[in-house]
Amino acid sequence: MNDTDSGAKGGSDFIRSRIRRDLDDGKVETCVTTRFPPEPNGYLHIGHAKSICLNFGVAQEFGGVCYLRFDDTNPLKEDEEYVAAIIEDVHWLGFDWGDRLTHASDYFEQLYGFAEDLIRDGKAYVCSLSAEEIRSTRGTLTAPGVASPYRGRSVAENLDLFRRMRKGEFRDGEHVLRAKIDMASPNVNMRDPVLYRIRHTPHQRTGDAWCIYPTYDYTHCICDALEGITHSLCTLEFEDHRPLYDWVLDSINVNFHPPQIEFSRLGLEHTVMSKRLLHQLVAEGHVDGWDDPRMPTIAGLRRRGVTPAAIRDFCSRIGVTKQDNLIELASLDFSVRQDLEASAPRGMAVLEPLKVIITNYDGEGEMLSAAWHPQHPEMGSRELPFGPEIFIERDDFADPPPPKYRRLSEGEMVRLRYAYIIRCDEVVTDAEGNVVALHCTYFQNSKSGADSSGLKPKGVIHWVSAQHGVKASVRLFDVLFKERDPARIEFTSAVNPGSKRELAAVVEPEVVHADVPRFQFERQGYFFKDPVDHKPGTPVFNRIVGLKEGFKA
Ligand code: ATP
Ligand code: MG
Repeated sequence: MNDTDSGAKGGSDFIRSRIRRDLDDGKVETCVTTRFPPEPNGYLHIGHAKSICLNFGVAQEFGGVCYLRFDDTNPLKEDEEYVAAIIEDVHWLGFDWGDRLTHASDYFEQLYGFAEDLIRDGKAYVCSLSAEEIRSTRGTLTAPGVASPYRGRSVAENLDLFRRMRKGEFRDGEHVLRAKIDMASPNVNMRDPVLYRIRHTPHQRTGDAWCIYPTYDYTHCICDALEGITHSLCTLEFEDHRPLYDWVLDSINVNFHPPQIEFSRLGLEHTVMSKRLLHQLVAEGHVDGWDDPRMPTIAGLRRRGVTPAAIRDFCSRIGVTKQDNLIELASLDFSVRQDLEASAPRGMAVLEPLKVIITNYDGEGEMLSAAWHPQHPEMGSRELPFGPEIFIERDDFADPPPPKYRRLSEGEMVRLRYAYIIRCDEVVTDAEGNVVALHCTYFQNSKSGADSSGLKPKGVIHWVSAQHGVKASVRLFDVLFKERDPARIEFTSAVNPGSKRELAAVVEPEVVHADVPRFQFERQGYFFKDPVDHKPGTPVFNRIVGLKEGFKA
């Protein structure tokens, strides 16, 4: 990745300031070390991209390293499919972890050892209350919890029970290991939290080796310490867990104690972000899978045609703060357009075709030429076939024209982009009065570049030769939810029924033939050859984003 596309370089958010200060104060003995710790229970979304860009970005900027660590402590929900998808996504975003790909499960034996240490030190006990009883005795924000009747078990009894838990002598839920902290703590997380639970479920990596699994709170801080994470960056919902993070590390024998630093989660308007809700969209068939181009997943954005550089730019623009907020979709669109404006060659496609017959054009047709990019002559030009029958956009004709209409209507002229000026002489309608074709005349001496000062076209429109144009499916997307914050409502009933439209379009031939994935279709937006469905004989384009603010479907 080069310097220009990681706008975060030398960023000055509170996390980077903190790291700079820690470096100045000599608090970082090794090198800045961060980690991105996904749980492999779903596909990554753009919220994760924020965390990825932050953790890997910070490591890059400060000459440090970043781990990709799978937080795989819950075999019930996790799957190798997600592991593979996450690896692909982080790579695709442009980040590299070198040989620092780890799993919480790599540390299961050490985690177990530390748990026995806690028991020996009287800091953990085996509790035989049911999950429901543990919940109901935890107290509330205003009332303290009630101590478990098993809190007073002897070290010997605890050790014996814990070892037998590991051996598989008990059923799921029969016992748990709990930290012995403070049932009256104002912080509910400190009221003897569960450290281990019994789960007779094989693990995707460790198989049948374990039937007890450590909890996130217990595991995460220890993995951070073992990996020498100098700055453990996580989202704000873990702020209340920080005392527990610190308690665990203070209570065991590790010589490294990372600081946990929280930042706000990314929320995007008109979408849901949590994996649980995204799961539901997929499982209930509201979308066509995790990589549906309407999904806020990395896989969905990639399939839609968004580039990694655009996502990195977006993440650096939104910055890192402690303020939770919903970011406007326009902000993501801005980064997408900005990235594609310079790099995407131009082409013409007519999405809703209306036939135009040029009555005074004799001959088969001719080849015109058009630059691939008006500002980048070095990108070269393409041949553009013109002929006696062309397609124009249905809504580039109106009869009668609304006020200030800058397109075609009966008796009026428009310029065909890169070609000639035409005038509409006659409108052909069917029995119901629908416009089915236009008869036009063209002005032979009005070819693009020639002097046609005597003619007064209303505007410039795009077109495609009917004889040469290639039929293509074009998919247009709108927001998945009209609701600004759908997670707050019964969201699956609010899926926007018009969020996906597929049109039978006509595309100029060179766009289909060129070995280039992304184009700007003039006046229509940026488009991407769908990586799954697009075939040379059956072209399929996804609209990545329109040309102007706001989605247009
Ligand atoms: P979800 O609720 O979507 O499942 P999660 O936090 O449970 O998210 P993890 O796989 O545990 O998902 O997340 C890995 C990392 O990504 C964590 O450090 C988490 O804080 C961060 N992360 C997750 N969602 C966001 C978000 N919306 N914005 C920023 N960071 C996020
Ligand atoms: Mg999670």
